[in-house]
Amino acid sequence: MSDAPQTIHLADWRPFGWLVTDVRLTFTLSPDATRVRSAIRFEPNPDPQADRTRFFLHGEGLRLISARIDGVAVAPAITAHGLTVAVPDGGFLWESEVEIAPAENTALEGLYMSRGMYCSQCEAEGFRHITFYPDRPDVMAQFHVRIESDLPVLLSNGNLAGQGPGWAEWHDPWPKPAYLFALVAGDLVATRDTFTTRSGREVALAILVRPGDETRTAYAMDSLKRAMRWDEEEYGREYDLDMFNIVAVDDFNMGAMENKGLNIFNARLVLASPETATDADYERIESVIAHEYFHNWTGNRITCRDWFQLCLKEGLTVFRDQQFSGDMRSAAVKRIEDAIVLRNRQFREDAGPLAHPVRPESFVEINNFYTATVYEKGAEVVGMLKTLVGEDSYRASLDLYFKRHDGQAVTIEDWLRVFEDTTGRDLSQFARWYSQAGTPRVTVTEDWENGTFNLTLRQHTPPTPGQPKKAPQVIPVAVGLLGPNGDEVVPTQVLELAEDEQTFTFEGLASRPVPSVLRGFSAPVILEGDASLERMAFLLAHDTDPFNRWQAGRDLARHVLRAMLTRDATPDPAYGQALAGFLRDDRLDPALRALALALPGEEDTARDLYNTGVPPDPDAIHRAHEALRDVLAQDLGALLLQIRAAMTPAGPYAPDAAGAGRRALANACLALITRVDGGKAASVAFASASNMTDKVAALAALLATGRGEAELSAFERDWAHDRLVMDKWFTLQVHHAAPVAAAATVERLVSRADFDMRNPNRFRAVFGALPGNPAGFHHASGAGYRLLADWLIRLDPLNPQTAARLSQAFDGWRRLDAGRQGLMRAELARISATPGLSRDLGEMAARMLA
Ligand SMILES: [Zn+2]
Repeated sequence: MSDAPQTIHLADWRPFGWLVTDVRLTFTLSPDATRVRSAIRFEPNPDPQADRTRFFLHGEGLRLISARIDGVAVAPAITAHGLTVAVPDGGFLWESEVEIAPAENTALEGLYMSRGMYCSQCEAEGFRHITFYPDRPDVMAQFHVRIESDLPVLLSNGNLAGQGPGWAEWHDPWPKPAYLFALVAGDLVATRDTFTTRSGREVALAILVRPGDETRTAYAMDSLKRAMRWDEEEYGREYDLDMFNIVAVDDFNMGAMENKGLNIFNARLVLASPETATDADYERIESVIAHEYFHNWTGNRITCRDWFQLCLKEGLTVFRDQQFSGDMRSAAVKRIEDAIVLRNRQFREDAGPLAHPVRPESFVEINNFYTATVYEKGAEVVGMLKTLVGEDSYRASLDLYFKRHDGQAVTIEDWLRVFEDTTGRDLSQFARWYSQAGTPRVTVTEDWENGTFNLTLRQHTPPTPGQPKKAPQVIPVAVGLLGPNGDEVVPTQVLELAEDEQTFTFEGLASRPVPSVLRGFSAPVILEGDASLERMAFLLAHDTDPFNRWQAGRDLARHVLRAMLTRDATPDPAYGQALAGFLRDDRLDPALRALALALPGEEDTARDLYNTGVPPDPDAIHRAHEALRDVLAQDLGALLLQIRAAMTPAGPYAPDAAGAGRRALANACLALITRVDGGKAASVAFASASNMTDKVAALAALLATGRGEAELSAFERDWAHDRLVMDKWFTLQVHHAAPVAAAATVERLVSRADFDMRNPNRFRAVFGALPGNPAGFHHASGAGYRLLADWLIRLDPLNPQTAARLSQAFDGWRRLDAGRQGLMRAELARISATPGLSRDLGEMAARMLA
């Protein structure tokens, strides 16, 4: 039979022909020959749309030992993707026994082994690597699981139903799709705690890790308890099982997975101590622990009808974890961080060949759609909905969503309908946010006459693959007006831009105001046009909206960089002066000031130039960024020393937002100081650092200025035994290699004995970091492209998911000069022509070449 990759279309969805009413699984674990026995009860699906022409169960890489229907042996027809068999008209019991080899599973999808421990990853389509099953999210059932093994810890979803020597039984009372199934078995140590829900039920919490790692679980446990409380208070959601387990795994393709009652985490998102984790790690752990926990309602109790609706659970859950982090830390700082990520990852995606709507309409490999568009833009769409309907209606709509759809697998239409039913608002135009790809551009023009101020907003969205023409979207644009002295004369209000062009009028103003547009980044759009230097400096000094104050500083930096790159201008001193005023303002959150001191990324500048019709040159961009940093270091000299001294926290390290903000500002100053003091301060800081945040910051400052050899060796000596810390050591060297040496640095790192390509964290620490050094990756020799392509081709047979994900580094090839375009294209073509290429990487390469 043919195994050519097929395209799957949203329009083709039909309900499965049978309902699954009961699932019983027995696992007899063995690394090379695990036996999985299943007993699954099927009933005909009464839905008139259900397709009962053929009984098909997914199954890939399974050795079928036996199959029975109602106790009678049957011989199904087996293909590479599953089996078909004739079934009775009414309900029946399907029983099968299959054999799988977890130790040989390097793709880390289905049941696999990670350093002696069994674990599973089933989203999106991993369960079909475990047993034959209708592996689709709209088939929901209760699972009973029995695990037989000599390993001391045996876990699955739900509540523990019984255990004895060599076995354990689990029962999950909540119907769920197979992608939420999980199994873990190993020699693990638990950190335990309890949580009492608001209705008074006690939940047993456990974080299970390898022996020795249990000293690093406290922050994850604390984050979990805060997330559980927050979801009760903010969304009225209570936990629904007697136990909640989190397991840390070394080898994991993604961040973490929300399996019902048994979340499985990449170890780097659980384990933290001041000596081994940075402030950024702590913040990420807090947000991902919350994210996976929040899925218990938005994803698990209410799931997706099909994988096209992935944004339904991910967009909403990302939005919820962003709200949580904003509440735990600083909402303004969190909003800026989220906007930076969105622009780096999602705007980039929208601007290239991989652009797709928040709800895609077709895919070859669903793993390729766990994207910034589905997750981060999906969250922005939820945020806009909240802005448009208001706080109270948002909460009322969510209450209705949980009430109406609990236990169901639903669609974006169902989601929007609860808002329509709650508010009476017609959301048909708003729904375009889910179907139209691309980042809308908004331009603003102002007009002032006799006390009347007119703001005219225009929108247009450039074409994206398969979508040449775009219709206008509903864009909430938050606007405030400032008077000439900097006082706010009109507080923030939300203008709804729904047509191609609209004018909004403000009356009764004493003098011409300065508008502050898109406050709080109220929509994921690009504001086009360039304000004057004076306007940007004015907003940086006076805007009452923290986001737009930061944005004004960033616009200033962009403006200066563009002038340096297009007109060979020397850096305008006005930038440093405006920045100095902002940095000196002690009323401002240090974290916000640290963000203001950071320049836009080199990729940002490249896209910025490209958007204004200038072909970006990665070398020139790198030199301009370096030159501007040198100028800032000179101009701000004394102020940087002063702020760094004032910000260096006294007392022991605590991973809270206040301490993190002070360290971020102190270390941003240190990075600039290192450019003018010969590395003295950073060397001292490295030697005396008592926590990983300061250690890494000092090392990065040294490496960025071509120093730090001795410190790199010291770091390696201290941490060679710790995989997670050493990942940082690998990444730092790739990020800060001189452009001409980047490829050679990577080659040196991957030739080390501790470079293990089977470990996704280590592979990403090197190859995921390479595009983060744009001038190095895009070196005109093409060495960076060749090296990445070589290793993606090597990784693909072992781990297609991770290979496909990292291939996205090639997606910007059309924005570069002819020479680099040719080099990148050739590498993509080479990947594409590799015999036996996976569906994952094959689809990515084909889309990028199309
Ligand atoms: Zn998620």
